[in-house]
Amino acid sequence: MLHKSESNSLDRLRIVLASSEAVPWSKTGGLADVSTALAKSLAAVGHDVTLVVPYHRQTEFVRDHKEEIHNSGVQLRIPVGTKTVLGTVFWTHVPSSNLRVLLIDQPEYFDRAGLYQSPSGDYSDNCERFVFFSRAVVSTIEHLVLRPHIVHANDWQTGLAPALIELEKRGAPGFEDTRSIFTIHNLAFQGWFPADAMKLTGLDWKHFNWQQMECHNQLNLLKTGIAFADFLTTVSPTYAKEIQTPEFGCGLHELLEHRRDDLVGILNGVDTDTWCPESDPFLPSNFNADNFAANKPICKSHLQDRLGLPDRPDAPLFGMVSRMTDQKGLDLITEVAQKLVEQNLQIAFLGTGNERYEWMLRELARKHPDKVSTTIGFDERLAHQIEAGSDFYLMPSRYEPCGLNQMYSLAYGTVPLVRAVGGLADSVVDTNVDSIANGTATGIVFRKYDGGTFFDAVSRCLKLYQDPTNHHKVIRAGMRYDSTWSRSANEYLATYENTLKRRPRTSLATRVTESKDHVAP
Ligand code: ADP
Repeated sequence: MLHKSESNSLDRLRIVLASSEAVPWSKTGGLADVSTALAKSLAAVGHDVTLVVPYHRQTEFVRDHKEEIHNSGVQLRIPVGTKTVLGTVFWTHVPSSNLRVLLIDQPEYFDRAGLYQSPSGDYSDNCERFVFFSRAVVSTIEHLVLRPHIVHANDWQTGLAPALIELEKRGAPGFEDTRSIFTIHNLAFQGWFPADAMKLTGLDWKHFNWQQMECHNQLNLLKTGIAFADFLTTVSPTYAKEIQTPEFGCGLHELLEHRRDDLVGILNGVDTDTWCPESDPFLPSNFNADNFAANKPICKSHLQDRLGLPDRPDAPLFGMVSRMTDQKGLDLITEVAQKLVEQNLQIAFLGTGNERYEWMLRELARKHPDKVSTTIGFDERLAHQIEAGSDFYLMPSRYEPCGLNQMYSLAYGTVPLVRAVGGLADSVVDTNVDSIANGTATGIVFRKYDGGTFFDAVSRCLKLYQDPTNHHKVIRAGMRYDSTWSRSANEYLATYENTLKRRPRTSLATRVTESKDHVAP
C-alpha cells in the first residue's frame, strides 16, 4: 500500500471513481480488479474516495457478514430519454479500508444474470442502462454533496459522465473544482448504439458530431468519454502509443492523436490483498521468492491432481486463465495445438468465451487427457491455483491494453510467455543472454503474431525448464518485480494533480459546434 509520505499529494483530494464493475461485488474482467484496487490505494493514503458501481445481481452472491450493504435512504430520479427512472443508493465499505462504496440499485436494469449480456448477446437496452448509471453517478454526487475534485470514469459504460460534467455541471454548485478523468481499459469495446439512442442521453443533438459523440452515424459512448474528459489515461504506456495508430486505434486513433497531450499510460498494479503467494488462502502451500523451489512444486502437484493430469514433475505445466477470444491469442493456440500436445508438457486452460474456442479446447483435453485439462467456467479459486501451480503462463495476445495475469504470474513464480504488445511489453523482460546475465529476465517474449513464432516461444520455455539454474533466476527476478498498486496509484495522483492545476477544458469540439446550427438526423 501507498504511504502518505510517498504520495505526491499535499492535500486531501475528493475523488469519485465510477465503474460498471468492481470486486468483490461484480466482475467480468480486469476492470473490476483495477477499480477496487485503485480506489483502496488512494483511500489508504488519506484521500476521500468514493467508488460508485451498479448494484448488480452478482453482488448478492458475494454478500457476506464482512461486506454488509445498507440502504442510504437516498432516492434518485434520473431522466433517461422521455422517462424518469428511479434509483436507490446503497452503501458499503471494504473491511479495513476507509473507502466508501456506493451501489446504485435499479432492479430492472441491474438485477440480471449477466452484467452486459445474456448467452444470446448484448442486452438490447445497454445504452439506456448505462446512460442511467452515468447520470446516477452525477446525481449521487449532488445528493451526497461530495464536491469532488476528480470524477474518474472508466470505459464506455461511464463515458457519458465526462460529457455531463462539461456540458451540464461545469461551475455548478458542488462542481466548482471538478475535473473529469476518463480511463480507457480496452478500446475495442466502445458502446456503439443506433443514432436514435442519442435521445436517451438528454444531450443536445448538436453534440452528435464526428468530434464528440458520433462515429459512423452511430452513438459512441467511449468516444464521448474521450472527447469530453479533461484528461485521459489508459492502462499502459505502450498501449497509450499503440492506440494512436490505425492498427490498434479501433477507428479512434485520430481523435486520440489529437488529444495526445492529454493522454498518459499508467500500468495497472496487483492487489496484493488478493494476489500474494505468501498469504493466498486458495493454495495448498504458500511460498515466496526465497522458498518457492521447495513449496511451489506442492502447488503444481495439487493442481495436477485436481485437474486429473498425471503427477509429473518432469513435464512443464503451462497455465492459461482467460476470456477465450481472438484478443487473447486463441487463434494462435488453435493453429499450433497439435504440435503443442506432441511436446513433453502439460497445459491447464480455464475460461469462457467464444464457443468455437471452448469446443476446440474441450476436444483437445478429451483427446489428450494426460496432457491437457480444460475447464470452461469462471472459477476464482482455480484461477489462483493455476497461477501458483504452473511453471509457465500463456498470454500470446493479439493486443493487450495492460493485462493482469502476466503480473500475477510474475508474483507467483510462473514465467509468463507473452507477445510484446501493450502492458505485456511494459511488464515482462525477455530472456536472452544479456538479460540473464544482468538479472533482468522475467519471461519469454515474442513479437510477430503468427503460429510459428508463438511455437518457437513455447520451445524456448521448454529449453528454459531444462536449465533449472537459469529458470530459477528468471522466476526470482519476476517475483521481485514491483507490481504493487502504490506505484500505479502515485502516478494516478500525479495525473489528478496536474489536471487540477490546468484550467477547466472546454473541448475544441464544443466551441466549434456551438457556432453552428444542428439538425437532428
Ligand atoms: P481482461 O482483458 O479479461 O480484462 P485481464 O488480464 O486484464 O484481462 O484480467 C482478467 C481477470 O479476470 C484476471 O483477474 C483473471 O484471473 C480473471 N479471469 C478471467 N477469466 C477467468 C475465469 N474463467 N475464472 C476466473 N478468473 C478469470
